[in-house]
Amino acid sequence: MADQSPRKDNRIVVWFDIDNTLYSANSKISQAMGERIHAYFVSLGLSHEEASVLHHRYYSQYGLALRGLKRHHDIDVLDFDRKCDGSLPLEKMISYDPTLRKLFQDIDRSKAQVWGFTNAYKPHAHRVLNILRLDDLIDGLVYCDYTVPDFSCKPEPEFYQMAMKQAGVTDPSKCYFVDDNRGNIDGAIAQRWGKCVHFCEKGLEAMEGGIMKQIGDEPLDPTKSNGSDIVEVSRLDQLRDVWSEVFRK
Ligand SMILES: [Mg+2]
Repeated sequence: MADQSPRKDNRIVVWFDIDNTLYSANSKISQAMGERIHAYFVSLGLSHEEASVLHHRYYSQYGLALRGLKRHHDIDVLDFDRKCDGSLPLEKMISYDPTLRKLFQDIDRSKAQVWGFTNAYKPHAHRVLNILRLDDLIDGLVYCDYTVPDFSCKPEPEFYQMAMKQAGVTDPSKCYFVDDNRGNIDGAIAQRWGKCVHFCEKGLEAMEGGIMKQIGDEPLDPTKSNGSDIVEVSRLDQLRDVWSEVFRK
């Protein structure tokens, strides 16, 4: 990732995760992604069972299956990205939602910058933002640069620190963050990010690390935040109340 010269900006930074946050789990994109990643493991010569075990292990251990694949199997990361995220028929799976665009438009830019903050690689992130017609409403994008050896990702501390640097913010309390992954929220809280929101579509299903889960059912890690400082929403529109100070009245 290019090291951008630090800019100073005293505004709040609103960080939006992209996948499974800017669109609903109902889109079934997490399943389609999981199937492709599974097929990739199998293409390395692993049995279906071995593929499932490793997929989940790498996802849990490294936050992204790809990091384990790179570290232990030295795969071509761009080939992986093309075959997994790149082959998703996103245009058929998600569509423009005027209320989401309006939500982004209603953030008062004199008070806040708006950034994407994703564990995906840049082309996938832009594809999603493009379909949702949000591309022109973000000030910047922090993504996983798969081409950098030992690239970092959420929930690693370095990734949040790199994000702050890119947005030119030094005070973590000025970072507002929404993500569907509870571990990523815990990572932000560990960095003392100001207002963290867990996007949690309770009752729906999603795939994580190759395993289907009921959203909202994951056991909380007792060593992490106890949840008292985390707000949960099931619709992004609720951010208007949770972060009312950054929305136009
Ligand atoms: Mg996500």
